[in-house]
Amino acid sequence: RAAAGPQYLSGLNPEQREAVETLDGPVLVLAGAGTGKTRVLTTRIAHILSQGRARPHEILSVTFTNKAAREMKLRLGQMLGQAVEGMPWLGTFHSIGGRILRIHAELVQLKSNFTVLDVDDQVRLLKQLLQAENIDDKRWPARMLAGLIDGWKNRGLAPGQVPSGEAAMFGNGKGGKLYASYQERLKILNAADFGDLLLENIRLFRENPDVLRQYQNRFKFILVDEYQDTNVAQYLWLRLLSQAPSRPGVPLSAIIPGAPVIPGRVGDANSDVQSHIRESGDQEDSARDSGFAPVGAPRNDAGNAVAQPSPPKNICCVGDDDQSIYGWRGAEVDNILRFEHDFPGAKVIRLERNYRSTGHILAAASHLIAHNEGRLGKTLRTEDVDGEKVTVTGSWDSEEEARAIGEEIEQLQRAGENLNEVAILVRASFQMREFEDRFVTLGLPYRVIGGPRFYERAEIRDALAYLRVINSPADDLAFERIVNVPKRGLGDATVQMLHDHARKRRMPLFEAARAVVETDELKPKARGALRDLILQFDRWRAQREVAAHTELAEIVLDESGYTEMWQKDRSADAAGRLDNLKELVRSMEEFENLQGFLEHISLVMDRDGGAEEEAVSLMTLHSAKGLEFDNVFLPGWEEGLFPSQRTLDEQGRAGLEEERRLAHVGLTRARRRAKLYFATNRRIHGTWSTTIPSRFLDELPSANVEITESKGGSGWGGTGGYGPSRFDNVESFGSSYSTPGWQRAQANRNRGQGGRSGQARGGFEESQSSFSGGFSRNKRGPL
Ligand code: ATP
Ligand code: MG
Repeated sequence: RAAAGPQYLSGLNPEQREAVETLDGPVLVLAGAGTGKTRVLTTRIAHILSQGRARPHEILSVTFTNKAAREMKLRLGQMLGQAVEGMPWLGTFHSIGGRILRIHAELVQLKSNFTVLDVDDQVRLLKQLLQAENIDDKRWPARMLAGLIDGWKNRGLAPGQVPSGEAAMFGNGKGGKLYASYQERLKILNAADFGDLLLENIRLFRENPDVLRQYQNRFKFILVDEYQDTNVAQYLWLRLLSQAPSRPGVPLSAIIPGAPVIPGRVGDANSDVQSHIRESGDQEDSARDSGFAPVGAPRNDAGNAVAQPSPPKNICCVGDDDQSIYGWRGAEVDNILRFEHDFPGAKVIRLERNYRSTGHILAAASHLIAHNEGRLGKTLRTEDVDGEKVTVTGSWDSEEEARAIGEEIEQLQRAGENLNEVAILVRASFQMREFEDRFVTLGLPYRVIGGPRFYERAEIRDALAYLRVINSPADDLAFERIVNVPKRGLGDATVQMLHDHARKRRMPLFEAARAVVETDELKPKARGALRDLILQFDRWRAQREVAAHTELAEIVLDESGYTEMWQKDRSADAAGRLDNLKELVRSMEEFENLQGFLEHISLVMDRDGGAEEEAVSLMTLHSAKGLEFDNVFLPGWEEGLFPSQRTLDEQGRAGLEEERRLAHVGLTRARRRAKLYFATNRRIHGTWSTTIPSRFLDELPSANVEITESKGGSGWGGTGGYGPSRFDNVESFGSSYSTPGWQRAQANRNRGQGGRSGQARGGFEESQSSFSGGFSRNKRGPL
């Protein structure tokens, strides 16, 4: 091979290149932010394809968001110099799981056009089940049960596999039963929730070894990004798929070096593996691993011959333990630590050069994360310039914070920065609205990324419900949502009656309605209205065959009276809702047909608005993972908000470390500028609270940080320093506002400890030392 090799390899450093070119056997790339892990994965796919090692549909490549998948395809095209046709298995765990499930739906008692429920539908359904069990929804909220079920699914636990103690904690011991009847109801409704996309897929594989083998054989290469955030279900799914291809008839135990199943806890489809484990006496791992984690390669204490595993799969996972931020959703950072154990002979590659951030940013992020104890630790260096220091700006309240950030962004814009390179990363999504409002005022284009916010709006959900009923007549939840929206005189009594009917005859609500209008059980008026509705749906379904799906959507919104309902509405937000409905129809244009669009909606984990327009990105820290921007604004660094009080209360030290990793993720998104903010007053869910700056600000190395003054108004900043100059400002605050609590505390503390502030100031000059004089933290935050 020529020293340079193919074009796409040039520019990689030796370690990256090794990770790309080691195509055979398991590879783990364990490396910090911005070291090129994702780039390695993309280049690896290019390499596999150009070497002819596999065709596009033989590569399984898992990204963390749909957006990341799209980006990867784009890059791939650039590397190969041609658009990449058909990489059907490049996507998120859920989109790929959902795709496989649709192909084999009937094997898990679904139809291939099954609906994917969102949280709202889920909760509505659970409410019905609670009612049927006579469980008080006030004491045992459906939403809580939804959370429990989600947690079980993330851990790969089907009903019957949930530890009985846990299942008993809800609804006076009825948790397990409710979970089981929920799963049954989903089947009747031809629906799956988000967690099912993987859990049911796992069941499919376990109950149908031939289907599993088909996929094991198909996927010649498996690649996984953000491996540190895989949860147990994702891990199990991956393990099932990553076993070496085998001939039918060979027991799985002969080829699986480790087993993803623990006796009695997680299913029993791999019972041959289980018995194998039992025989080989390798159970201590399972006990230690709290019941759902995999165990290692079977040891054989008795000295019996253990089947030699066949060559391990070509699996390449990349991750960073310092960026594990989904523990609350069941992610197990241990998966990454266990990789070598799971895939014996794995090559572990470390990357140490950060290509993303300037010196100050990288130093600040590294120093911050060094406060965590539970980490592997790693070196990160950059050959970039030091660049601008990380800034910290305090403001009076969150509104001022939004104003200050808005102004800075306008300044950047005037200086010629591209708005696509500006991001605001918030800890909690409620923080977004203030920025949205501000941007609307300023006329600053922005897009909200992550979380289906747009599609969660009531008017959008109503419109979608109409389309869902057209697409899948058995979609009861959708039907129920719109049966009387707009009002047609089909009130609760009618709906109740349809329910009774549907239950008795085991049919969907829509069919029940069809039957009921033929009887005289309904009053003439309701009967007429219901008949009209059914006829309308029949007509729309017929039109679906001839009209474009966007056109159909317009027709439906028009003929159903839904648009008119909002046109007549006098409330302030009606106009906005009408705009949203238009936007919805516009958003459908991207899709080939209605089914494709609805599938997309159900899977949407990230949204980007008008993709073409230059715009500021607004998102939560969680959805910023893997992304990078020249300019990153990080508002709300206050105790209680960040770190989140809730996380601290619920998870203590581990929670704090996860919050710190989140802060680290936030900082490491920035290429050239990272700007941190805190406000002294913040309104959370309608109540104002006085807050104190985040402990994470204390943990930044002073040499890399600059304190600046808020440009938005009254300002907190003082003359720029953490020393006594700061409380000079307290007086002026005090005269115009009441002195905020933390500042009073801070001032008192500083007065009481004269030497302390001097020390703080000294610390400021010392390279790599934290702000020893730091912020006072004797008060709990608001969350
Ligand atoms: P994260 O942990 O945040 O997901 P990552 O390790 O996946 O980060 P990438 O996003 O792949 O890092 O790379 C970070 C940036 O560095 C990208 O802009 C990428 O193009 C660039 N980069 C990576 N490797 C090189 C290289 N060898 N030469 C030049 N630029 C590189
Ligand atoms: Mg990445």
